[in-house]
Amino acid sequence: MTFSIVGGARSPIALFLLAAASCAPAQPAANATSAADASNASKSSNAKKTDAAAPNGPEVAPSAQWVTNNGNTGSAGAGGSGRASSFFIAKRPKLVVVVVLDQFRADYLTRFDPYFGATGFRRLFSRGASFTGHYGHYVTYTGPGHALLLSGSYPYVNGIAANKFINPESGKSEAMVFDSGAQIIGAPKTDIDMDVSPKNFIGSTVGDELFLATGGQSKTVSLATKGRGAILLGGRLGKTYFMNDDTGDMTSSTYYMKELPPWVSAWNKKKLADSYFGKKWERALAESAYSVSSADDALNEANALGLGKVFPHTVNGKLAAPGPDYYEALTHTPFANDYEFDFAKAAVEGEKLGGRGVTDMLAISISATDLAGHDYGPTSQEIEDIVVRTDKQLGDFLTWLDSKIPSEDVVYVLSADHGSTPVPEQMASLGFDAARIKKKAIKEAVDAALTKRFGAAGGGGGKDAKDAKDASWVVGLEDPHIFLNRKLIETKKLDAKEVERVAGEAALTLKGFGGYLTRTQLLGGAIPPTEMARSIARSYHAPRGGDVVMWTQPFYFWGKYGEKDVGSTHGTSYRYDSEVPVVIAGSAIKPGRYGVREMVDVAPTLSYLLGITTPAGSEGEVAPIFRTP
Ligand SMILES: [Zn+2]
Repeated sequence: MTFSIVGGARSPIALFLLAAASCAPAQPAANATSAADASNASKSSNAKKTDAAAPNGPEVAPSAQWVTNNGNTGSAGAGGSGRASSFFIAKRPKLVVVVVLDQFRADYLTRFDPYFGATGFRRLFSRGASFTGHYGHYVTYTGPGHALLLSGSYPYVNGIAANKFINPESGKSEAMVFDSGAQIIGAPKTDIDMDVSPKNFIGSTVGDELFLATGGQSKTVSLATKGRGAILLGGRLGKTYFMNDDTGDMTSSTYYMKELPPWVSAWNKKKLADSYFGKKWERALAESAYSVSSADDALNEANALGLGKVFPHTVNGKLAAPGPDYYEALTHTPFANDYEFDFAKAAVEGEKLGGRGVTDMLAISISATDLAGHDYGPTSQEIEDIVVRTDKQLGDFLTWLDSKIPSEDVVYVLSADHGSTPVPEQMASLGFDAARIKKKAIKEAVDAALTKRFGAAGGGGGKDAKDAKDASWVVGLEDPHIFLNRKLIETKKLDAKEVERVAGEAALTLKGFGGYLTRTQLLGGAIPPTEMARSIARSYHAPRGGDVVMWTQPFYFWGKYGEKDVGSTHGTSYRYDSEVPVVIAGSAIKPGRYGVREMVDVAPTLSYLLGITTPAGSEGEVAPIFRTP
């Protein structure tokens, strides 16, 4: 049951074109047409966005015979001739399952290795090709990581350069995946800090290319409790679901659909989220098994949403009955993994993923590992526990999936969007130079320096400088960016390059910053020949970029978690943040360990495996992990 991939000098793209040219245009099968119709209808409010990918037009209906003639499925347009198909690709997978563990360091697998079962991580790693993946961008956050993973592209191209940015039009801080043209289904209002759609993602993903390669027959479904993780795995054309923190239900946005499909509404009626109310998160293993982790009451762990700092963590959000604080607390615990995997099963059944004679994609982003990591830090007992539990939960899901779709018909990808920084106070207690940098200190230092050099922000703006924002040189701080008052720079007729430099030098006087690059430097290419500078350049998307980009020393951070005095975060290019595990498993893959590779290699490798066009902005290479035919 193995399927072969043609290796050597001929690229799969060239083969695709040859095959497409040699086949007469094919009519999609009835079931495929209805899927495409549904897709079209649901995107009618977003016609502009999807014009280029209109799935029914003959101009984008590549040979369905070539794409779907598996020789043994006999569906979805496969009724035509079998010419060429068995030569270039004997058999395509029915399903690609992508599991992204949000905030999961590469070393977690080795640290907790003795405690894993046979059905989870070990099953995938023993059957697949694995490597340590390295994110080559500076901004190791959820948005950029998920955007890069299935596009193979860096933030400077794909636009997802942070989780938040200062929208130059409104001057306000906005979620990177906010979309003013769409609403969260079932939410009373959709605010600018909410995750809504991939509108700001530029380019394509593996799922998008699968859709284009199959005349719109291939489906991608992505899910997470956290919106941005799911949204960016879904690409522009997938269907994405995430949790509504107010209700505990899974929802989506009007970018994707007018209303939730019946299988989602039916699943929500189960009220699965409520079933964990008041439960205690206890240790899964004997206490002695946590000796590779810190003490349970380690320094500066958080006490988020009433969960407490030590085991057991009671999940009730300090409420008497399920409500918003409880649902949010739930997402910080391993119970949220059960919730996600249960929804994933409903998605497989509801959408018949992998059962339609065409390659579908299911992408699951496990959000709870991230929130627990933020609360307790990467060396905590809670992280050990949630990783061990995730292994079991993943194993149970994979076993269930095996009963639905034979594993030789599935390609599995497991990875993470970024790693995690040790809790600074814990590092400081060990003698490391480590701390949090406060936004207030940055703002004050920059404001003072610019005022001294160029005059008071409020004084030189003329008649236009009356609103509060104009009274400050700094209009926003979204790590790693400092956004300066460009209107003021223009009004005062200043040299932006010099203003940026003075601001950068001022911030650099704060302990913990290692250096800075300015907007002028980044856009002009005048950056030092260092890997740090390159990682920042790869992260800098001009339309959403700040005026100064600060980089910290190791073990320092700033931003949302820098403002707190507990917990930890991620977001730099240091190895604790940038190294994650990767495994790709499937019958075409030669199992083994393949060293360290760039994360931009994952999408092109997967595209090559599937015989589809590599996502548009990809800069990666195909990893040599294939069996020879
Ligand atoms: Zn993340």
